[in-house]
Amino acid sequence: MTDKATITTTASIAPPRQFQQLIDGEWVGALEGRTFNDMNPFSGEVFAEIPASGEADAQRAIDAADKAFPAWAAMGARARQALFLKAADVLERRADEIVLLMAQETGSAAPFSRFQVQWAAGLLRQAAGYPYLPGGEIVASDTPGVFAMAVRKPLGVIGGISPWNGSLALGFRTIVAPLACGNTVVLKPSEDAPVCAGLLMGEIMTEAGFPPGVLNVITHAPGQVGPIADRLFESRKVRAYNFTGSSATGSLLAARAGKQLKRIALELGGYNPMIIFKDADLDYSVDTAIFAAFFHQGQICMNTRKILVERPLYNEFLDRFVARAKTVQPGDPSDPRTKIGPLINDQALANVRKGVDEAVAKGARVLAGGGNQGRCFEPTVLVDVPADAPIHCEEVFGPVVLVEPFDSEDEALEKANGTQFGLSASVMTADVWRGVTLGGRIQAGMVNVNGPTMGGEPQIPFGGVKDSGWARFGRWAIDMFTDLNLVTVSQARRHYPL
Ligand code: NAD
Repeated sequence: MTDKATITTTASIAPPRQFQQLIDGEWVGALEGRTFNDMNPFSGEVFAEIPASGEADAQRAIDAADKAFPAWAAMGARARQALFLKAADVLERRADEIVLLMAQETGSAAPFSRFQVQWAAGLLRQAAGYPYLPGGEIVASDTPGVFAMAVRKPLGVIGGISPWNGSLALGFRTIVAPLACGNTVVLKPSEDAPVCAGLLMGEIMTEAGFPPGVLNVITHAPGQVGPIADRLFESRKVRAYNFTGSSATGSLLAARAGKQLKRIALELGGYNPMIIFKDADLDYSVDTAIFAAFFHQGQICMNTRKILVERPLYNEFLDRFVARAKTVQPGDPSDPRTKIGPLINDQALANVRKGVDEAVAKGARVLAGGGNQGRCFEPTVLVDVPADAPIHCEEVFGPVVLVEPFDSEDEALEKANGTQFGLSASVMTADVWRGVTLGGRIQAGMVNVNGPTMGGEPQIPFGGVKDSGWARFGRWAIDMFTDLNLVTVSQARRHYPL
């Protein structure tokens, strides 16, 4: 066991750094003493040594969260608010160091990392107001003398499972709303970002003064999520889950949660269309499409995967878009001048390569990119992708985008909806009402008229439909992480039929 004061993530300390996990306010190794190497996706070097936990560690974390719950749920609004505000300050104070950590652990280049820091600080400050929101409402009763109240109550222990891709923003999104609603949390970050999607949350909340056990963070080696997942899903002490990740994993975990009749918030994958009408501003459409398709090297759930262009504009758009795509080059994310970096690991590289190769084998043409240097995959533009190529409607998590022409609004809509996903969409047009009405017919949780498919402010009702999940963040998350309890008071004696 090590005192938390001796733990450091200071970026000036050369990798590989050694980390511990957070259970009941203590920084500890895995009970069996095992560790694993967390790799830098750009350099291929070891970034950090991380505890490789198992079932017993998960049980300790669950017990700690369960023990901390009653006092945390009862803490006054002012005290709780102060902690979230302090956490935002701590995060901002450490911004430069954290941006470097994200580069080294997840390959995130500075523009996306800086965005994540600012977003997470905003999330913490907004959640600081949750304890002051109305805790329920008065309900009219038909029974004379009965006073009825619907009261919001925290659920208890929440199991948080975070992904690696928007590591810092999504690590915080996994814990902040549950905590602000009065729950305690066991956070299990992705094995590809145990520091930036998990242990950093532990450090920041601990420094801000969150009581021991309110947030616990446990880590595991690649391929060894099973025992921790078993504990999290089988323990009756864990009342609900907050999951962000792939639709395949989300489906599996929804079944596990459902078996125990527990709720699970799901934020899953996307296959996000951008529709460009012939009256759209061409330069702006090209700028928007480049950003939306290739930011964070295509590893954001909201990246544009398919661009649909009305035929009169198609050739000119394609020429300009392809020319611009060729100028966006991935590089070392630790260099502040780099705009996009590498894919997260070799499996991700293989998946992207496979998606492109399968499409090409079926007749698609590569107009830009298609190559890679190490894990850096070039921004890639595909046309003539046949409908039976998986990439035609399935998420390939990398800098690859399809471009297709369309002749009518109905055709654009059919193509936009021709996927099982439904996270985000965008419509580019000079006719805003056309954008709004068409947007209403697109099967997506979020539609942006004259903006990119990526929309990122902490207060929006973020979330998808269909295979993209059903959770909603912003203040709507309060519904997910509280129960609504009815309390009645009979102010006079009541008369019964028996
Ligand atoms: P993933 O599903 O592989 O992993 C997500 C998390 O689930 C990780 O912590 C992982 O360890 C855990 N996990 C995997 N198998 C598990 C199991 N059997 N039991 C318990 N936990 C398990 O996803 P990823 O590769 O980390 O993230 C990329 C995916 O997430 C993409 O599909 C992307 O679109 C999606 N995503 C969605 C959103 C959103 O808000 N909708 C945001 C970011 C990423």
